[in-house]
Amino acid sequence: METFVDKAALLRRHGLHITAQRLAVLRAVSDRPHSTADDIDKAVRAEIGAISRQAVYDSLSILTDKGLLRRIQPASSPARYEDRVGDNHHHLICRMCGRTVDVDCAIGDTPCLTAADDSGYEIDEAEVIYWGRCPECVLRPEVSSGG
Ligand SMILES: [Zn+2]
Ligand SMILES: [Zn+2]
Repeated sequence: METFVDKAALLRRHGLHITAQRLAVLRAVSDRPHSTADDIDKAVRAEIGAISRQAVYDSLSILTDKGLLRRIQPASSPARYEDRVGDNHHHLICRMCGRTVDVDCAIGDTPCLTAADDSGYEIDEAEVIYWGRCPECVLRPEVSSGG
């Protein structure tokens, strides 16, 4: 469990001022990885109260820009945030309930960063999302529209 001091040090290491908002946002994201900005906004507000939605969104965006958080943007879903950064892990997302879990890179270190043809780009991230149904949704009986 990371402490308050660790998070403050993390901010400082990235050249960011330490503010109650940023600490609360970092903590909310690390408690609930893959949350949407909305979820994080609710969590932060429950914790420190006096904070505007805009301040939460601003904190999320600066923390993402500085590399403390990673933003994943699944198709037709709001962006989600996590604090597991820099290891190019991938995600499994349930189509039914939206549950998102981490999955390590396919095999070896980061084979998906080695594109068959990189077109001269310097690649530093491969965003892979595996879509499907989570174990719970697989077990759930199909909702039939016919009654
Ligand atoms: Zn599910
Ligand atoms: Zn993740």
